[in-house]
Amino acid sequence: MDIRFVKRDVLKEKPDQKHLGFGKYMTDYMFVMDWTKEDGWKDARIVPEGPISLEPACVTLHYAQETFEGMKAYRTAEGKIQLFRPEMNAKRMINSNARLCMPEFPVDMFVEAVKALVKVEADWVPSEPETSLYIRPFMFATEAALGVHMASAYKFMIICCPVGAYYAEGINPVKILVEDELVRAVKGGTGFTKCGGNYAGSILGQVKAEKLGYSQVLWLDGEHRKYVEEVGTMNIMFKIAGEIYTAPIEGTVLPGVTRDSMIHLLRDWGYKVNETRLSVDDLMKAGHDGTLEEVFGTGTAAVISPVGELRYKDDVVTINDFKIGELTQKLYDTLTGIQWGKLPDKYGWTVPVE
Ligand SMILES: *Cc1c(COP(=O)(O)O)cnc(C)c1O
Repeated sequence: MDIRFVKRDVLKEKPDQKHLGFGKYMTDYMFVMDWTKEDGWKDARIVPEGPISLEPACVTLHYAQETFEGMKAYRTAEGKIQLFRPEMNAKRMINSNARLCMPEFPVDMFVEAVKALVKVEADWVPSEPETSLYIRPFMFATEAALGVHMASAYKFMIICCPVGAYYAEGINPVKILVEDELVRAVKGGTGFTKCGGNYAGSILGQVKAEKLGYSQVLWLDGEHRKYVEEVGTMNIMFKIAGEIYTAPIEGTVLPGVTRDSMIHLLRDWGYKVNETRLSVDDLMKAGHDGTLEEVFGTGTAAVISPVGELRYKDDVVTINDFKIGELTQKLYDTLTGIQWGKLPDKYGWTVPVE
């Protein structure tokens, strides 16, 4: 793929690596490529990061034909830069796009584009502990037309931002509210895709949870409001009487790269991982009878997020005395160890950016 490069006149000032926060500082450049029905993908370019212009009738602004991905580039102790399972993000975006009737962006082009941009932005990949370069590929319809249909023009873009640890206070357990009224996804819908529309519909649940002093929502299945599915931006796992439970990938839950990696590690360590439906009643019961040992969310942004409290209607359970669990900590240490190149990668998950 030929990638055109448009240089910036003045580079941005880089933020203090100790106060990066999450998603606040965009890097100097972005990757852009256009798709039209006539020509397919064309004009790959890395250009100065900045505003783009859209027609007011742009399909995306009205009908939300938009998908995205989230991944990171990590700096190793030797100063090298590596990605983590980037083909999984590329494949997931293909699945998201297929569901939303958007064109396919091939896996090899996706990985090549990510690598090319990260190479240009190498100076932006931070080196402080637990920092990384967050990478956000996304695609959307650009055609201006108000009829609902499959659009004839799209843009694929990648922007990046250096990020610190997702939780500024360190990995402390969070409080989670089980949402019993609103739903995020139903079978046959778009729950398994990473699309903006899923998030637009979930913000009300998040606002409700925050009002009650909870930091995230645990969604139940949309049909019965009975089985636990996932948290706002994370998959979720439960350790009950020594075994791990997590929702199956059946069309409603997002197939997380972190979820998949954790399952590999857990099975390797001899744990039984049940990818099966777990009812919220059984979960709360386990919380009360002492068999619910650990609960944690998994996702690229936070890696792992221990859960210290669950609330379902008026019932509240505390997990592991509101402390991070032993297994949760081991998973965090192992996965981040591989991602930052501190531990050997026997799974072949890391991909160097030369
Ligand atoms: C991105 C995302 C996840 C986590 O996926 P990872 O690939 O592990 O980052 C989980 N749930 C939802 C809804 C997501 O959007």
